[in-house]
Amino acid sequence: MDTTCLLVGGKYHDGATFVRKNPLTGEVASVAVAASIDQANAAAHAAANAFAVWSQTGPNARRAKLMLAADCLEAKKDKFVAAMMAEIGATAGWAQFNLMLAAGVIREAAAMTTQITGDVIPSDKPGCLALSIREPVGVILGIAPWNAPIILGVRSIAMPLACGNTVIFKGSELCPQTHALIVEAFHEVDIGDGVVNYITNAPEDAGNVVGALIDHPAVRRINFTGSSEVGRIIAVRAAKLLKPVLLELGGKSPLIILDDADIDEAVKSAAFGAFMNQGQICMSTERIIVDEKVADQFLEKFSAKVASMPVGDPREGNTPLGAVVDEKTVTKLAAFTKDAVAKGASILNGGDAKGVLIPATVIANVTPDMKLFREESFGPIVAVIRAKNEAHAIELANDTEYGLSAAVFTRDTARGLRVAKQIQSGICHINGSTVHDEPQMPFGGVKNSGYGRFGGKAGIDAFTELRWITMATLPSHYPI
Ligand code: NAD
Repeated sequence: MDTTCLLVGGKYHDGATFVRKNPLTGEVASVAVAASIDQANAAAHAAANAFAVWSQTGPNARRAKLMLAADCLEAKKDKFVAAMMAEIGATAGWAQFNLMLAAGVIREAAAMTTQITGDVIPSDKPGCLALSIREPVGVILGIAPWNAPIILGVRSIAMPLACGNTVIFKGSELCPQTHALIVEAFHEVDIGDGVVNYITNAPEDAGNVVGALIDHPAVRRINFTGSSEVGRIIAVRAAKLLKPVLLELGGKSPLIILDDADIDEAVKSAAFGAFMNQGQICMSTERIIVDEKVADQFLEKFSAKVASMPVGDPREGNTPLGAVVDEKTVTKLAAFTKDAVAKGASILNGGDAKGVLIPATVIANVTPDMKLFREESFGPIVAVIRAKNEAHAIELANDTEYGLSAAVFTRDTARGLRVAKQIQSGICHINGSTVHDEPQMPFGGVKNSGYGRFGGKAGIDAFTELRWITMATLPSHYPI
């Protein structure tokens, strides 16, 4: 098996290695280089050197490279599917969806290169032309997780590049090969030595390697997608150096079903939102909050739908649910179920896991004192909570430390909008799934789900420096 190497300054680098095993079979899925601190620093140095040329490359030239990279990425479909299946137990459908959306993210970033504009601002100083302009920041460190690996890896690279920055991409220990394929696409279109650099680390070295990169003087901003726990560590370290961070963290997304909802639509949305990619999506529906007047009707239909969604070996390709990423998820979900049942909840759908294959699990009568209500489960389990009325449903939805995505089902869309505006989340869909992402949308959370936005024009704010420049066209008058 080929070792997945680091890419530093346009050259592939070898070194000590670590192994990622297939969660389903235990076989070696990939072998990747465990970067040393010196190698991480070399990546920062290479990115800093490349900045002078890339930041001065015209918008259409940057666009052209990004468009080529999107094509090159798509051409790697078979490799991506194989790598995602082996490294994280994903289904082929999830891998292909990832690839499609990720290519869209690069093309959207490409479209933005000519939209990085500024303003002429009226000045009170006679003859003064005042401008606000957006400029590239410098070297950006991007860190992405394994769960939607192509989308999130690409997201941490594409917009920073479109804005004229250079990038160090720190891949996930759980899918180093999948993340390497992204970098390969940029490398193959000759984007420029050092414009995109790739670093992987042994799991036990994460804190030190990421820490060294944050501390490196050339690194000017960091974007991190991952858990709230690690996001906090990164934000604190960056704050000591006053470096801005964009954080896309965990979630506990609520789906509210009001008493006038189209129940069939709500069932479809809940099943997709809770179980796509085995519930391992930051926007996954983790809490279904249903008005008690329609709860029984909903549960009957939902349970029947979930019973028709089996879990199986993703390599056989005939089940909607594949494997979860590791045994830790199996243990965590079993503990959540045990805690919920001990406190009065009931198991509506589910059963024993076979290794990392966990059947779609529905737990009814969940209450706020249960772990399943509060802690991110990030697996194929969903809590159903009964609400007394609309106000109670909103209160339950907001009773969480997280605030990424949410959804509301009602036949009265004006009512839906009123409810959506009271939910504390970055994203809310009326009569849609909590799981919904498009490249041009401002994506991000509030509370412990993070801050800052990827996507479309919001991404320009995240990856440029806004500057104020004036030009005196008349002699100036000073009071002293
Ligand atoms: P994670 O936080 O465990 O790991 C993410 C990255 O952090 C890895 O690259 C790892 O090397 C690094 N890391 C680990 N320990 C570190 C330390 N001490 N210092 C610095 N870096 C360290 O997350 P994960 O398990 O890979 O991903 C799952 C999490 O990501 C879930 O919580 C999920 O909700 C979240 N997520 C959020 C979004 C979003 O857009 N909001 C999208 C996908 C996933």
